[in-house]
Amino acid sequence: MASPEEALDVKALPKIELHAHLSGSISRQCLHEVWLRKKAAGETDLEDPLVVMPPGKHDYDLKTFFPLFSSYIYNLVNDEWALTYTTTRVLQDFADDGVVYLELRTTPRALGPLSKADYVRRILDAIAAFESSSGARLRTRLILSVDRRNTPAQALEVVDLCRAFPRAQVVGIDLCGDPARGGIEALSPAFEAARAVDGLGMTLHFAEAECSGSEAELDLLLGWRPDRIGHVIHVGERARRAIVERRGMGLELCLSCNVHAQMITGGFEAHHFGEWWKVDGCVPVLCTDDVGVFGSPLSNEYRLVAQHFGLTKDDCCKLARKAIDVIFGGEEEKERLRKIMW
Ligand SMILES: [Zn+2]
Repeated sequence: MASPEEALDVKALPKIELHAHLSGSISRQCLHEVWLRKKAAGETDLEDPLVVMPPGKHDYDLKTFFPLFSSYIYNLVNDEWALTYTTTRVLQDFADDGVVYLELRTTPRALGPLSKADYVRRILDAIAAFESSSGARLRTRLILSVDRRNTPAQALEVVDLCRAFPRAQVVGIDLCGDPARGGIEALSPAFEAARAVDGLGMTLHFAEAECSGSEAELDLLLGWRPDRIGHVIHVGERARRAIVERRGMGLELCLSCNVHAQMITGGFEAHHFGEWWKVDGCVPVLCTDDVGVFGSPLSNEYRLVAQHFGLTKDDCCKLARKAIDVIFGGEEEKERLRKIMW
């Protein structure tokens, strides 16, 4: 008898990815190619990405993960060419893995002469070029992230950027960054302003670490009225009840990331996906977070839940389709996905 995961071709299964950070989704091979070109042009002193992030190393924890970006990846992907090159490769990787709808998120950065708005525009250009030339079924929308390090003014700038681009391109706002960073009450005005932007979705990194799972912080975040929340690890009974009572909230769950980064105790079978996937009233969605760092493509996340939680082929198909309910991409896109995914 075939085991559930053998019975389902997880790669061919049309999938929706809703929690993927652009910079963290770049493969090591792609970073290496960027490095080779910059090295040859005398444009970088950085070490080879394949040395900094050896193939097979996925055990980045919250202490080593964030510096990897601030002191390495952001310094390598630091101009228009590298931004376009890496974005296109990320899209190709998701398309090759059977993803048909992707919400990619990024914190706008000024890169040399490129303003933050230019940065967003270049990514949107790369998405448009990919969609018109690749022949892939993948459609991609952008979520702009506020980093917990941002000042209130910087956070409001992200809201302004969301407002400035059409909803068909930029569909949501996110709160991300090192969960050890407190003081996020100061970002409330920005998220309240974002809530007032017509058609803009909101997703928040939620209870990622023990230090960011206090009742006070979770009450604050839920008060911003997010449509979706990511990770959802250190959640007490009160927040759990509030989440279920919201009815229909999307939960972006990232198994490999949480296990490799030791954000949960125990292995895959201890992951809270097991508690949430059958809960009526919310919509758990499998996501990769940073496939370039943690090395597990979305198809593998489906394989993992089949293996560790006994999901049948039918359960996996239902789980994949259920994500349609919580995308930020609008009714027309939902209709397209219903056609592809049934
Ligand atoms: Zn994330």
